[in-house]
Amino acid sequence: SATIDVPMLKMLNDREMPAIALGTYLGFDKGGAVTSKDKQLRNVVMQAIDLGYRHFDTAAIYNTEAEVGEAIRMKIDEGVIKREDVFLTTKLWNTHHKREQVAVAMKETLNKTGLDYVDLFLMHWPIALNEDYSHSNTDYLETWRATEEMVKLGYTKSIGLSNFNKLQVATVLQECTIKPVALQIEVHPQIIQEDLITYAKDEGIIVMGYSPFGSLVKRFGMDLPGPKMDDPVLTSLAKKYEKTPAQIVLRWLVDRKVVPIPKTVSPKRLLENINIFDFKLKEEEIEKINQFNSNTRYTLPSFWQKHPFYPFDMVPNPIPDPFRSEMKS
Ligand code: NDP
Repeated sequence: SATIDVPMLKMLNDREMPAIALGTYLGFDKGGAVTSKDKQLRNVVMQAIDLGYRHFDTAAIYNTEAEVGEAIRMKIDEGVIKREDVFLTTKLWNTHHKREQVAVAMKETLNKTGLDYVDLFLMHWPIALNEDYSHSNTDYLETWRATEEMVKLGYTKSIGLSNFNKLQVATVLQECTIKPVALQIEVHPQIIQEDLITYAKDEGIIVMGYSPFGSLVKRFGMDLPGPKMDDPVLTSLAKKYEKTPAQIVLRWLVDRKVVPIPKTVSPKRLLENINIFDFKLKEEEIEKINQFNSNTRYTLPSFWQKHPFYPFDMVPNPIPDPFRSEMKS
């Protein structure tokens, strides 16, 4: 069977990160994060490893750490991979930002995955919350110092940030003893993140791009404004390179040195999404896709916008906090 060779990117700490990651966030419903039935996700991750995926993106809040870890362990037991051949990224949830909570969360993550260490531990948000989801003033610098301890204890090889704005990244860079190697943010044709990507690159930080398909796919069960699979810019590039519009967009991220994190649970689309390393877009083609930019975010937790460390611009009508309305009902 065809195994794709994924290129590796060198990080600040001289370690390497595979240039594409499989997303494993399955969405939320009233009961919290959706988990897969009958080990569907575990089986998808196992298939992904057979196809050549070597990087998996999970988070404590996704409730998928256990299945991702199980798949990795099973493939190690099968002799398909060694532990050092795979790169596991996971994230600290906002309710565990206090110094002593970070170690607790880290150990819980390792327990769930059944692994001795993870490769990359990201602070999911700069925002600290209490257990009841009320706002906490815990500074992300306190949390960062605690994640640095996780490296020293060998629980994670590398540490990084997610959903931090430029000023917040700069603050961490100024105060840290271990630099963040990665910054995970929303990147797709409608939010091209030119400024933050340039800044991160200049600092040697690798950008990981989440929700890479943007408006190409339905979100929240809806068609949203923006380019679709039949967009003429994308279909003409797809025709030229004998690829699909989805592959063109993923390659657009790769050519901008962003690590895309496409999520799929379909075996067919698993192969499609990783089969992007045998062509390259030209500068003017990248530029053409950049023109879709409208700075549209799909991950916009405006219910946290009064938090002192909220990273995004405020909106006039914040949506109700799903975490808290759930607890009240
Ligand atoms: P994606 O852009 O990956 O879109 C996923 C959707 O696209 C699914 O509905 C999937 O359906 C569909 N899809 C996948 N491949 C194809 C294809 N080739 N053609 C057509 N449709 C396709 O968005 P996500 O928001 O899921 O983001 C990806 C990952 O990024 C997450 O899983 C998570 O790991 C990470 N993330 C991180 C965040 C953070 O705060 N740090 C926030 C949001 C996401 P199907 O499964 O049926 O193929």
